[in-house]
Amino acid sequence: MITAPSGCGKGTLRRNLLATDPGLIFCPSVTTRSPRPGEADAVDYFFVSREEFVSMRDRQELVEWASVYGNLYGTPGKPIEEALERGVDVILEKDVQGARTLRALFPEGVFIFVLPPSMDELRRRILGRGTENEEERRRRLDCAEMEMSDLSTYDYVIINSDLDRATERLSAIVAGERARSKRRTANDD
Ligand code: ADP
Ligand code: 5GP
Repeated sequence: MITAPSGCGKGTLRRNLLATDPGLIFCPSVTTRSPRPGEADAVDYFFVSREEFVSMRDRQELVEWASVYGNLYGTPGKPIEEALERGVDVILEKDVQGARTLRALFPEGVFIFVLPPSMDELRRRILGRGTENEEERRRRLDCAEMEMSDLSTYDYVIINSDLDRATERLSAIVAGERARSKRRTANDD
């Protein structure tokens, strides 16, 4: 489970990790936000209308949901449970509120917080991504420091300074967690 304030690079790290680790699947969230250039439906998110989101929520298909930066985001429970039943490792990307709820639901989960090297660099990355207007960028930066105050509750912290190094750290965490004796099964090599 990867958490970070917007723009810290969790989507980029997740894509890098998935490209090299066939034993992982990403379970996308449902969101009412519009796709950014390069984002694909059912790959990065399930992009839905507000009406569809509300009806999924009312049918109790979401194990948690939140309003983040003016859009609704939620976690469909079924794909996660099905993957875990098949013994596949699942990667999730949530904000701090979502992480808190999911920690209670999946206490065996591994919670990783991604930090930017500095607030100035975070500002540059959000600007460089070029997908939000000025008001949305300011909202993301205003929330970032508050979100970072939660980081002592996470199992791991990665500072995403150099992307290759941060990706290696993330892969190492996954490998280390798979090797933990309490997680190993008779089928492991
Ligand atoms: P998030 O998913 O946390 O909102 P993104 O993965 O969209 O963040 O990254 C925000 C921007 O920063 C993107 O333009 C991405 O290419 C860039 N980025 C991510 N990691 C790094 C890094 N280590 N160095 C420089 N730029 C990065
Ligand atoms: P973005 O719009 O930048 O992709 O995401 C905005 C924020 O919403 C990020 O912090 C992201 O982690 C969070 N988020 C994405 N999906 C979910 C979800 O299903 N639940 C919650 N609570 N937050 C989510």
